[in-house]
Amino acid sequence: MNSFTQQVEAVGFCRTPFKQKFGIPRQPGLVEAKGFIELSGQYNHSDFIEGIEQYSHLWLLFSFHENLAHGFKAKVRPPRLGGNEKIGVFATRSTFRPNGIGQSVVKLERVINENNQVKLEISGMDLVDGTPILDIKPYIPYSDSIKEANGGMAQEEPELKDVEFTSKAETQLQTFDDHAKLKKLIQQVLAQDPRPAYKQSKPDNKNYFISLYDLNIQWCCVTSIIKVIEVTRLLK
Ligand code: SAM
Repeated sequence: MNSFTQQVEAVGFCRTPFKQKFGIPRQPGLVEAKGFIELSGQYNHSDFIEGIEQYSHLWLLFSFHENLAHGFKAKVRPPRLGGNEKIGVFATRSTFRPNGIGQSVVKLERVINENNQVKLEISGMDLVDGTPILDIKPYIPYSDSIKEANGGMAQEEPELKDVEFTSKAETQLQTFDDHAKLKKLIQQVLAQDPRPAYKQSKPDNKNYFISLYDLNIQWCCVTSIIKVIEVTRLLK
């Protein structure tokens, strides 16, 4: 048998603070961002998730829907190799891949069933807002975590950078609700240094922007420190 096709449909959609791909952590569990999975269509029924609260973590299979139109190549340049060395796409977690399927383990915070909408509150996800969820499965430690596994080029967590806030950004942060939580989220996201891999080893005098929730965060990398310049509300 050398060909097989299967039609899949979203069972829900992920709501996250990440309104664009730039700035999203490269793997789950690196930033404590909170989000929701809103079950959709025929799947928006509590029967589908009955008993799920017994698990602390879930596997999400999802579509890299923002990249589907760009297709895939057999070899890619992963950030872990500095963005210039090529290896096979199946030897990476590239977001441009055959069938465009991603998988992330996330923390299940709670189950919500209100106003005829079943939602799972989750945290630690690495997904852009609106990501279609194709399947949800319990994380089973005895078989999913393999102590002696070799993670190849991705054995260790990515290195983090220090993050500082200008006094202007500090003052602006104070005007938002939950500013302590917001500051921690911005710090965790930017500590990953979202810049392309080939830029990360040196500071550059470019200003960057990421959007979290309805906020626009302007930042730059000075020496080896990430500096948050401004935190402003995105114009509607
Ligand atoms: N943990 C998943 C995996 O291993 O399949 C995803 C890893 S991938 C490197 C994580 C990146 O996917 C994020 O940093 C973000 O840039 C990108 N991403 C997240 N949601 C996406 C979406 N819906 N479409 C395309 N890219 C997405």
